Amino acid sequence: MDIGIVGLGLIGASLALDWRRGGHRITGVSRSETTIAIAGERGVIDQGGTAVSLLAGCDVVVLCVPLDRLVPMAAAVCPHLQPDAILTDVGSVKAPLVEAIIPLWSGFIGGHPMAGTAEQGIQAAQSQLFRQRPYVLTPTAQTQPQQLAQLQTLVEELGAQVLLCDPHAHDRAVAWISHLPIWVSAALLGAVRQESDPEMIALAQQLASSGWRDTTRVGGGNPELGVCLAHYNREHLLRGLYQYRRELDRVIAMIEQQDMTALTTYLQKSQRTRTRFEDRHQTREQDNNHI
Ligand code: NAP
Repeated sequence: MDIGIVGLGLIGASLALDWRRGGHRITGVSRSETTIAIAGERGVIDQGGTAVSLLAGCDVVVLCVPLDRLVPMAAAVCPHLQPDAILTDVGSVKAPLVEAIIPLWSGFIGGHPMAGTAEQGIQAAQSQLFRQRPYVLTPTAQTQPQQLAQLQTLVEELGAQVLLCDPHAHDRAVAWISHLPIWVSAALLGAVRQESDPEMIALAQQLASSGWRDTTRVGGGNPELGVCLAHYNREHLLRGLYQYRRELDRVIAMIEQQDMTALTTYLQKSQRTRTRFEDRHQTREQDNNHI
């Protein structure tokens, strides 16, 4: 299949790498010539450049640019597509994008791979990033079943688990498990910044280990992405943050009252909640598959 990837950053180049290794022909389009040159050198693409007209012969085009660039990029790409081309994206928010892009291209099927790292750019790309990860597709009433099946097959070739989802339901669910954790983690880092004693900060830095790494990873990621999520999924994110604030108040009250029984019950419930989420998608060790 001829696959066009627009935006050869972490997600775009990682997709390109796996599909190319799977025998597909990859046309890469990105903003900078440097990115295209690196993609060529590292075997990420077969051909590429900065002009969207390069996508004219593609069967499938995947938009992998930052969230706020997806709709303008779709508008720029559509005039060059062949009539039966499938257009999809990887944006972390779906409803506003699907609503804006479907009128531009009825063969648009929203997508969101539930995988990433704290890094960005083509240097961060890695093979098998999507293996054993959920990959959401958001078909609409206009989606042709044959095109959905084609895209689904491509996603499955990545080793990912396809999940068909309503765009609004997707946005509400990812607010809980992805967008809220980013801002909670960022707020944790913000709280630590309030420590005024430099010696205490230095000691804490020396002592920081796996628990700190796990809880701050997503808050210390790509700032552009976090801000876009706050903008495009504002309503669901705020709902989550308000609930989180209420939970923090409950925890503070239990600790102030030294209510060890209530705290134990709370943490027992936390353990059970975490287990229920982990069972769904078996965690895997992050392989070092950087290109
Ligand atoms: P990234 O590593 O920063 O890559 C973004 C790519 O878009 C780069 O190739 C860059 O091109 C290009 N680009 C940036 N600004 C552009 C503009 N104004 N016009 C045209 N191209 C532009 O970002 P990413 O993490 O791959 O994220 C890309 C998309 O994936 C986002 O929509 C995000 O919501 C989604 N996503 C991200 C994650 C994650 O964890 N990171 C997970 C799932 C989905 P140059 O390199 O040529 O400058």
